[in-house]
Amino acid sequence: MNEKTYLSPPDITELEIESVIAAMKSGWVAPLGPEVDGFEKDFAAFCNVDFAVALSSGTAAIHLGLLSLGVGPGDKVVVPTLTFAATAFAVKYTGATPIFIDARMSDWNLDIDLLRDYLFEARSSGELPKVIIPVDIFGRTCSYIEINELAEEFGVKVLSDSAESLGAKYHGNPAGSLAEISAFSFNGNKIITTSGGGMITTNSSEIAKKIKYLSTQAREPVSWYEHREVGFNYRMSNILAAIGRSQLARLPEILAHRRAKHEVYLSGFNANERIKVVSNQIGHESNNWLTTVTIDSKAKPHAPELIIESLNEIGIESRRAWKPMHLQDIFKNNRAELNGTSDLIFKEGLCLPSGQNLTPEIQERVIETVLKVVK
Ligand SMILES: *Cc1c(COP(=O)(O)O)cnc(C)c1O
Repeated sequence: MNEKTYLSPPDITELEIESVIAAMKSGWVAPLGPEVDGFEKDFAAFCNVDFAVALSSGTAAIHLGLLSLGVGPGDKVVVPTLTFAATAFAVKYTGATPIFIDARMSDWNLDIDLLRDYLFEARSSGELPKVIIPVDIFGRTCSYIEINELAEEFGVKVLSDSAESLGAKYHGNPAGSLAEISAFSFNGNKIITTSGGGMITTNSSEIAKKIKYLSTQAREPVSWYEHREVGFNYRMSNILAAIGRSQLARLPEILAHRRAKHEVYLSGFNANERIKVVSNQIGHESNNWLTTVTIDSKAKPHAPELIIESLNEIGIESRRAWKPMHLQDIFKNNRAELNGTSDLIFKEGLCLPSGQNLTPEIQERVIETVLKVVK
């Protein structure tokens, strides 16, 4: 084995390469162009929404999503404590304060009971958050029916961080259509990539318009440079959109591969009661971006670290689960509603390689290595 097996490397075929060359030859190298329009149209159709706006990153998508909902200094925004830091960073960019809510063990997503308790208390103290950002962790959709119901009851908006969940479904509806606004990422290790990029989906023409406007330096539609608001340079380039379009066309094939890998992990660890593979809850259909497991830390302390080391020795990448935001130094003074779950997931959780280049032989070695360490 001479090539390293990464967790979720970009999967680029002739299709993507040719689409970039075609975009270059078309002369549409400069910022926008037909590939951006096409990518947005294809993406909106895939997510079953009216509008999609292509941006420079997932972080930019969350940032502008929040601004389009009017979030600013003094506001509070609910963020799961178990997430990638970009979710909380985007809240900080707006001047608002993240409030962290813990996870549930079944799928590592936002704990609805904790969220409800927090909202009741926040209402009685007159400190309701403006927005809730559910994060579809590792490609598994949150419980949006409950979350949207709560949001309506308390007059709070919902912005889904779907950076990891393109292709996942909840009661048959695709990620991207489950909240007022959804944000996606096409970073290098996401389920599809544009090398770097993001997307907003929504059914609101006003929100889509506002995000396009903010992402192109907030230029007023006049012949000179007129600005009434602070804008951003957050739009996606035509060349990158060409990659995104080809990747999106291949998404069904990519999803089938990830699901097959997930099934192999499920059966590989089935017999070991110390290892739990996080799997689909009723009504949820993961995109299986990464298969994640927890390993009983009482039976086998520090198993994730030991496995990461053993796999690394044979050229295979695996990673710990996210370190919760409430344990990060920069957020230590933020309010956090905790139940111990994200702490446990950080201790016991492990992300296993799940990309296109994970061959049956390598996956067999991953499973063997994990079982050997845990036994
Ligand atoms: C990747 C990711 C982001 C950030 O996306 P970028 O495109 O890297 O800016 C945000 N939230 C979550 C949950 C992510 O996994």
